[in-house]
Amino acid sequence: MRTKIIAGNWKMNKTAAEAVVLIDEIKSALDGVTGVDVVVCPPATDLKDAGAALKESFISLGSQNVHWAESGAFTGEISATMLCELGVGYAIIGHSERRQYFGESNESVNKRTQAALKAGLIPIVCVGETLEERDSGQMEQVVTSQVVEGLADLGDDLSRVVIAYEPVWAIGTGRTATPAQAQEVHALIRRTLAGISSGNVANAIQIQYGGSMKPDNAAELLAQPDIDGGLIGGAALVADSFAAIVKAAL
Ligand code: PEP
Repeated sequence: MRTKIIAGNWKMNKTAAEAVVLIDEIKSALDGVTGVDVVVCPPATDLKDAGAALKESFISLGSQNVHWAESGAFTGEISATMLCELGVGYAIIGHSERRQYFGESNESVNKRTQAALKAGLIPIVCVGETLEERDSGQMEQVVTSQVVEGLADLGDDLSRVVIAYEPVWAIGTGRTATPAQAQEVHALIRRTLAGISSGNVANAIQIQYGGSMKPDNAAELLAQPDIDGGLIGGAALVADSFAAIVKAAL
């Protein structure tokens, strides 16, 4: 039985002071909750204060990116070691906004994932097709190559990866994949993982759905056999909505 994992991707929202307020609200709303992995991923400038606010909480801290080098001339980037020092446990990698606006490729996703794993971070690797790719019958090929190329050469560390299936057409649009559409792709991802791993690894990997998951559609999505959680954007910025999604995963 896979533990469900709900992660909030705050994107470029909330100052450090606002992050502490939101975390306090989330902690109160989730008081007494157990049995689900919960992660919040604020902007990099918030991580230190967010980490302090999360101390002694069951909620983990995540970043929205991580660079592959340990240090060096990479202006604007942040290394895994720097993140670990701040108590970060998870790193979102290859979000579609990074792929769309910042030139992220399957190759760079793979390099970032390898570095995250080496430092002990859990990568949340995002995959998902655009509407044009879906409409032109390329969904299967696009998602399969994102998984195979993004997760290449990880060896036994593959078992520590979390995958987020996020159809680009459902992110921030209010248009959610139906539970059946999402389940179909999650099952495809798990079959693909089985092809690049051995033993029980593919069966044990948590695969989140992301794309306009809200309190009113979370339970149905999370009830699908291969949907093991959610990567939440907009609804993660409101404590009650985020907490309601977490509770839908119990
Ligand atoms: C996301 O950005 O990862 C996301 C799923 O956003 P939203 O929930 O707002 O669609």
